[in-house]
Amino acid sequence: MDEIFATKNRKRLVLKPGKERVVANRHPWIFGGAIGSESGQADAAIADLVDTKGTLLASGFYSPRSEIRLRALTFGDEELTAELISKRVAAAIARRRPLLGGRTNALRLINAEGDDLSGLVVDLYNDVAVAEVANAGVERIKDVILDGIRLELKPRLIYLSNDLPARGLEGLPTEPQAIGEGEPATTIVENGLRFEVDPASGQKTGFFLDQRDNRALTQSLASGRRMLNLFSYTGAFGVYAAAGGATFVENVDGSNIAIESARRNHELNGTSNLARFVVADAFGHVRQLSASGERFGLIVCDPPAFARRRVDVDRAARGYKDINLYAMRLLEREGFMLTFSCSGHMSLDLFQKVIFAAALDAGRRVSFVRRLTAGADHPVSIYCPEGEYLKGFLLEVLE
Ligand code: SAH
Repeated sequence: MDEIFATKNRKRLVLKPGKERVVANRHPWIFGGAIGSESGQADAAIADLVDTKGTLLASGFYSPRSEIRLRALTFGDEELTAELISKRVAAAIARRRPLLGGRTNALRLINAEGDDLSGLVVDLYNDVAVAEVANAGVERIKDVILDGIRLELKPRLIYLSNDLPARGLEGLPTEPQAIGEGEPATTIVENGLRFEVDPASGQKTGFFLDQRDNRALTQSLASGRRMLNLFSYTGAFGVYAAAGGATFVENVDGSNIAIESARRNHELNGTSNLARFVVADAFGHVRQLSASGERFGLIVCDPPAFARRRVDVDRAARGYKDINLYAMRLLEREGFMLTFSCSGHMSLDLFQKVIFAAALDAGRRVSFVRRLTAGADHPVSIYCPEGEYLKGFLLEVLE
């Protein structure tokens, strides 16, 4: 492994004059457009970025095909070694130890830039670690990372999901790989509640860990209320609401597989008797509920990212407004709603405006009670604010 990090095996990238600000801001993404010339090994995992005088500016993971040519891990003359990466893996896990225990055994272990490991995400699901390697450089040194995880946590299985679109663009294999024993499916405990997670068939790495704290908030608000869980996926918010004393929970998702899993998760927690499971398009379903006069005291609206690209933002804003408007109409007076956007391109400011417009059109008086974001196991690098994709509000409908 040390060979891969040896200077002779690194790529050498020369920064274009005038692009110094790119490095001064310590943003880890160095785009191809900022690079004047490249030399060295074609299949290098690691690259050094230098100025025209040859002074070392940054080192990191190299990708010949990605727009992000270099994912910087160190700046200035700090030396990039396998040992440094091992230390960062160990530090990321150590930072989360206080969150892990009998009540919660699933969380994000490594959050890319937020843990100074751009290009890498690792989630822990009880005895299974699921890694998403998004970059050619990370792929070549991944054994350093997997060894670190094994040493710290001894998982039964490490599952490399490999289905990221970015891997196709990078020319990396997209077949999943399982290293260890048994199947990737497992049962996790989160805040004392149990969920089945199947990294092989689920969305993303299998479960939306970023919502853990918001699910706990949902539980604390649920007592005595009828709850509507829009875009429920495997029913996690609904299970929490039921545990918090909701009188009825309706989980709605477009995916039959997700809804079947939601049913099993309610069964696992002994709450399927008060839950309903609906496979439907949420946009149509809220209209139907509205027409039939149904009302709820608590609604969670957690749709998929409507804006995956910047050009989609306008269309996405219309989608968010539509679903939120109808959801607000379904709320009882003094009802609560947790509403989210996980589109990176949708700013907090714009999302707030969308909610405002939805409230106006719904004819409801709404107050912003709290801003919501991802949990502490999803740290965001101040140099890479793009890492903060999840935004939400706790709303109260007053009238
Ligand atoms: N709230 C969930 C995560 C939601 S992920 C949790 O905490 O686990 C988004 C979900 O929206 C996916 O399960 C997807 O199947 C579903 N979905 C996407 N488009 C939809 C639509 N138009 N109507 C209903 N569900 C949809």
